[in-house]
Amino acid sequence: MLEADYLVIGSGLAGLYFALRASEHGRVLIATKRAASDSNTSYAQGGVAGVLDPDDRIETHIEDTLRVGDGLCNRKVVESCLREGPEHILRFANELGVPFDRGPDGQFELGREGGHTARRIVHAKDTTGAAIHRTLLQRVMERDDRIQLLPDHLAIDLLTTAKYGGPNAVFGAYLYDQTTSEVKTATARAVVLATGGAGKVYLYTTNPDVATGDGIAMAYRVGARVANMEFFQFHPTCLYHPQAKSFLISEALRGEGGILRLRDGTAFMHRYHEMKDLATRDVVARAIDSELKRTGDDHVELDMTHLPGDFLLDRFPNIHQRCLELGIDMRRVPIPVVPAAHYCCGGVAVDERGRSSVRNLYAIGEVSMTGLHGACRLASNSLLEAMVYAARAADDVKSARSDRPGHVAPWYAGEATAGDEAVVVSHNWDEIRRLMWNYVGIVRTDRRLERAAQRIDLIRSEIRDYYWNVRVSGDLLELRNLALVADLIVESARRRRESRGLHYTLDHPDHDPRLARDTVLARGDGPVV
Ligand SMILES: Cc1cc2nc3c(=O)[nH]c(=O)nc-3n(C[C@H](O)[C@H](O)[C@H](O)COP(=O)(O)OP(=O)(O)OC[C@H]3O[C@@H](n4cnc5c(N)ncnc54)[C@H](O)[C@@H]3O)c2cc1C
Repeated sequence: MLEADYLVIGSGLAGLYFALRASEHGRVLIATKRAASDSNTSYAQGGVAGVLDPDDRIETHIEDTLRVGDGLCNRKVVESCLREGPEHILRFANELGVPFDRGPDGQFELGREGGHTARRIVHAKDTTGAAIHRTLLQRVMERDDRIQLLPDHLAIDLLTTAKYGGPNAVFGAYLYDQTTSEVKTATARAVVLATGGAGKVYLYTTNPDVATGDGIAMAYRVGARVANMEFFQFHPTCLYHPQAKSFLISEALRGEGGILRLRDGTAFMHRYHEMKDLATRDVVARAIDSELKRTGDDHVELDMTHLPGDFLLDRFPNIHQRCLELGIDMRRVPIPVVPAAHYCCGGVAVDERGRSSVRNLYAIGEVSMTGLHGACRLASNSLLEAMVYAARAADDVKSARSDRPGHVAPWYAGEATAGDEAVVVSHNWDEIRRLMWNYVGIVRTDRRLERAAQRIDLIRSEIRDYYWNVRVSGDLLELRNLALVADLIVESARRRRESRGLHYTLDHPDHDPRLARDTVLARGDGPVV
């Protein structure tokens, strides 16, 4: 049995920053399902949004966030989060030592991204997330007297008192050790979900393999409220190349003057929005989707060739290097791009301190739904949100009281024998991701959603049979979560009979003011069980 004051699930920005701060007052156990660096955080390119330029104003950042959120942001949350954000950015830079880019005068070099009306993105070249992650991990390692990090430990399910009688409270989790196949029991005063996003639910995604929505699924299974799952952000520009797996071409390229063109060289964004290539992601992704459908092409192009070559090399060394490996020199030829699933705006519904609706269960970072993003996330607000909520949760968790029962039942593997039908698992993975891409993607319809719901229902019942009959494996556990998350997305999308933010349906193309509210799902409330 593993024991700590706080059990953190996930080792991205949210989990590591929480652990550092909470280690001031308790022992922290971090379980992470692969290597510590396997996270969306490590892939972030653009940077962190925050008002740090004296000529910029918090009010403008607030207005930008609310406008992009399309009527669903929680204004109080937006205001407090964006006001608190810059102090964390400064702490990351000055106390933790993240090497954000600075000009000769020592001031941050600020980038601009879609939807922002000012330059306010702090970055470390085009590998900001990796720089943040490396630094945070180093700081966590230095606290090994207070923080224990367990790589290759995949959280299966949360432990709750409901099973033992009494009100629902979380007191730990079962962890699957991927190296030994052993299932361990971990208990704590509070459990913090920092499991990141769910991009793997779609066929094409910018997310790494760990992003299978596990935290959302685990929280939903113990009765926590989950909200706004219909709002999945598609990044407009993922590299289109048969040998490139999910490589993002950052929005910052358009921020620096990149122009989207059809394959014949025609620019098209002016036909879709007055901000042209710097319109918000949902507008740009839909514009590309519509142009691809109209022309029959399989990609569009991002043209950087009119910008100075030296500047491109200096500002985007990582992207340049990756493209060059594939024979694309962005100084000379345009970069082929397509949209891909990128960011899950919905998640475990939490209050201003990161508390879910179930006692002693917190959710921070991409796994959560705080009210900051509303119906569409403003670029680079997510790392900021992860910083703010990790810090708040670390302060709040101090007062959590243990609900652990006297005796905790160990994991029961039953009569299950090792699974010899891996092909069923991989088939279902593939089917879910394809049907989500085709039926629940950038443009939706009632019929497509209905079809998706029927298929997912069937797949989930198949998984349920399979799950209880074989010994668990990492793939099977992730598949079970992925299928539930797909179901939650489809159910939320079916309930929103209007178009808003990232949710666009041909059958209800306009806003319906009566639906300007969150879509909240909880076990027992509706069709998803
Ligand atoms: C390519 C790319 C570029 C991006 N660029 C930006 C940007 O410029 N600015 C910005 O603000 N945002 C950006 N984002 C989004 C941002 O990176 C994420 O929202 C943010 O990093 C999420 O941090 P997190 O700590 O919540 O989750 P993550 O960093 O994803 O960490 C989640 C962790 O949980 C672990 N985990 C998951 N399930 C389990 C389980 N069952 N058991 C144990 N461990 C588990 C994972 O292995 C991982 O360690 C980008 C995302 C991508 C993919």
